[in-house]
Amino acid sequence: TGPSVSYHVEASRLESFLNWCIPFISKIELARFGFYYVGPGDMVKCFFCRVEIGLWEPNDNVLSEHLRWSPYCPLLRKRPTNNVPIDASFLDQLPEPSYDTCGIRIRQHS
Ligand SMILES: [Zn+2]
Repeated sequence: TGPSVSYHVEASRLESFLNWCIPFISKIELARFGFYYVGPGDMVKCFFCRVEIGLWEPNDNVLSEHLRWSPYCPLLRKRPTNNVPIDASFLDQLPEPSYDTCGIRIRQHS
């Protein structure tokens, strides 16, 4: 990968998961909420806030984990970004920006 890859485009992010082998975490959801695959292992990175997350567990929720580690991600906070979604309606699942971060539900099994 290099700077020429346009990871602001969701379709490009999805393509980065070619060798993704974690069956319980959806690469479609990862790409949808800003992530692309960087490796090694299951390490992914958000194009918009640069957070890197790995060591996924079976009960993990992509959106919850993203918010947990990067509560101010511009994509998740619905700030203007250059994101090019495949289906923008999925981004409606995001919590409203007015929510205080303390009110965001995070992983329940930890
Ligand atoms: Zn992010």
